[in-house]
Amino acid sequence: MPYADDALAPVISSGTIGYHYGKHHKGYYDTVLKTVKGSDLADATLEEIIRKTAAAPERVALFNASAQLWNHNFYWSSMRAKGGGKPGGALAEGIERDFGGYEAFRKEFLAAATGQFGSGWVWLVRGTDNRLAVVKTANADTPMAHGIACLLCCDIWEHAYYLDWQNRRADYVNAWLDRLVNWDFVARNPG
Ligand code: FE
Repeated sequence: MPYADDALAPVISSGTIGYHYGKHHKGYYDTVLKTVKGSDLADATLEEIIRKTAAAPERVALFNASAQLWNHNFYWSSMRAKGGGKPGGALAEGIERDFGGYEAFRKEFLAAATGQFGSGWVWLVRGTDNRLAVVKTANADTPMAHGIACLLCCDIWEHAYYLDWQNRRADYVNAWLDRLVNWDFVARNPG
């Protein structure tokens, strides 16, 4: 983890991090290690495991665990203490160009988060047309499995926010955007 368990409070409490990182994330990690051991993917990178199993329906359990492991690593890096708000520099220009401004981006991100039925993720990506876009994925699915460059992600599984926000997913995502987004991480992504 790039920060202490209580660094993201009160938006995300140390209790949530304890379960989310200590139980959920660790569960995915343990499953990936156990499943690839002695297999043809034993020496593969996490990215290779995800891309290979994404195209193999019989390996959906390994895809789910490995994609969830990658998604969570990306999620932890997408946040920092005292983050959030508008980005600057080239990111601000890209958001202006492709969304028409930060407020329009923010509205689209929130709509994707609240519009996702059930568990999943909301992403800022750079599409194959080189434009920034907001996309949502269900369950373990991840844009990187489909060759799309990820820049930022928010976990909207209930385990990410239920202890702190109960059923108020929109409040969680609003606070997440305003107070936690790590724009420095977004800017460093090759995208
Ligand atoms: Fe999660």
